[in-house]
Amino acid sequence: MENTKVITIDCDEVLCNTAEYMMKYTDFFTKRWIKKHTTIMLDDLSEMYHFIHENLEALQENDKEIIQNMLPVEWAQEAVQKMVKQWYKLYIITWRTDNMKDFTYQRLNFHFPNAFKEVFFCNNYKNKAIAKSSLCEKVGSQLMIDDDPRFVDDIKDITVVIFDRPRNREYNNKKRMSSWNEILQLEVFEK
Ligand SMILES: [Mg+2]
Repeated sequence: MENTKVITIDCDEVLCNTAEYMMKYTDFFTKRWIKKHTTIMLDDLSEMYHFIHENLEALQENDKEIIQNMLPVEWAQEAVQKMVKQWYKLYIITWRTDNMKDFTYQRLNFHFPNAFKEVFFCNNYKNKAIAKSSLCEKVGSQLMIDDDPRFVDDIKDITVVIFDRPRNREYNNKKRMSSWNEILQLEVFEK
């Protein structure tokens, strides 16, 4: 029988290692941030994502390999495959903006083909931002996984897992897990 459990997942730094890639392989970020911090902090992420949103076309033009080179987070592909096989309904809820749709779909199709029922773009850097909590409610999510506590703080009544990173450790009001293998041990995944 088809499993009807609904899981919602953040995209950047939970499924895709976007920040790590930007730091390592693009001059702009390397020069700008590497001297400032050895660890990427939440404000750095906001600034970095805003930059990607503003400069997407130029970034893609400068680096034709960008989609293939940005690697998924460790074990994310295996975990997603496993969830799809077990008939979980998977949705992505991302900060990303509408102008990043094509770029996002290309990358997701490359690393996570046919895995997600829908991708919701919250437009967090535009006036028309949508709250992740409202989308969780809309799709009937039972579990939300995110690395940025600021966007999931208002999600109530369902399990929220914070993907553990040095930058989010000052937030302690949610369940915290450090790998996809650990996440798959959650009760929601028990048959
Ligand atoms: Mg994220």
